[in-house]
Amino acid sequence: MGRVYNFSAGPAVLPIEVLKEAQEEMLDYRGCGMSVMEMSHRGKVYDGIIKEAEADLREVMGIPDNYKVLFLQGGAHQQFSAVPMNLSKNGKAAYIVTGQWAKRAYQEAKKYTDAVCVASSEDKTFSYIPDCSDLDIPEDADYVYICENNTIYGTKFWELPNTKGHELVADVSSCFLSEPIDVTRYGVIYGGVQKNVGPAGVVIAIIREDLITDDVLPCTPTMLKWKTQADNDSLYNTPPCYGIYICGKVFKWIKAQGGLTAMKERNEKKAAILYEYLDSTDFYKGTVAKKDRSIMNVPFVIGDKELEAKFVKEAEANGLIGLKGHRSVGGMRASIYNAMSYEGVEALIAFMKKFEAENA
Ligand SMILES: *Cc1c(COP(=O)(O)O)cnc(C)c1O
Repeated sequence: MGRVYNFSAGPAVLPIEVLKEAQEEMLDYRGCGMSVMEMSHRGKVYDGIIKEAEADLREVMGIPDNYKVLFLQGGAHQQFSAVPMNLSKNGKAAYIVTGQWAKRAYQEAKKYTDAVCVASSEDKTFSYIPDCSDLDIPEDADYVYICENNTIYGTKFWELPNTKGHELVADVSSCFLSEPIDVTRYGVIYGGVQKNVGPAGVVIAIIREDLITDDVLPCTPTMLKWKTQADNDSLYNTPPCYGIYICGKVFKWIKAQGGLTAMKERNEKKAAILYEYLDSTDFYKGTVAKKDRSIMNVPFVIGDKELEAKFVKEAEANGLIGLKGHRSVGGMRASIYNAMSYEGVEALIAFMKKFEAENA
């Protein structure tokens, strides 16, 4: 069997060029006689790999010098705890709850700080982004927290909240490197890479230097203290070496494609044809408010559980995999990350049309 079109939410599709290069280097990385998996993270060769990965990410995102880039483990979930542990000074934080991941982060933060929910879209199954232009944010809040792209529900903050001068912390797991962003608008940007950037096992955190201090909650484990990692260039202990190496290749791939501007253009084009089709038929329905639609995760329903199960099964038989929706939304979800080709989305739409014709 050849390669399928993989619409999985994560771990997810990676660029074929990256996989092939990794394959070529698998047994003998550039003449050093071993795989990247087998080499010391303290050696010269690996030092080159991680430094180059960081340099390329800085270039791709335009990360200013006063921000640190950390390559961490523990998934996005680990940062749900690390954020309040590292940022709590006044013992207060504001959370905007737009989905399951933001809700988990909020609930975790409550263990360590007085976290308050300042906006939520739970009343309508997280199908929209609440108006965040004038929120009631406690004046002494240490930060305002968002999940920028809601992987499960398919919504995206197209406008960042008005934090009223407070630090913005964003989980960008499922929109990482999907478009250019202005890093300076954030205090902390972090994401698990397994959605849009690389293999599971790596979390990248981009943190403004003045937020990385020894003044953390006393309960903070050494490993969750950002300063531990920052002082040691992400090599305090053994990092997820191989995953970082693959991320480095993805950064180079993005550069070769024309950078984040090109990514955004491509992603918008893919999303546009899919949404256009969804809007043109009554058979399928998009589940979120139009103005808040994500260009990474596109959920849709038929409204008949049996037909939806049939859709997922037949799609799979046609080489379109990972389309089953999250259990909290039901229906289907197409994740169309950077590495999903335009042809892949066209193939999905062609299948949807055929399925509609046969089952409407
Ligand atoms: C997948 C996802 C998570 C959870 O990531 P883990 O690495 O499994 O902890 C958190 N936030 C967002 C936005 C996600 O898409």
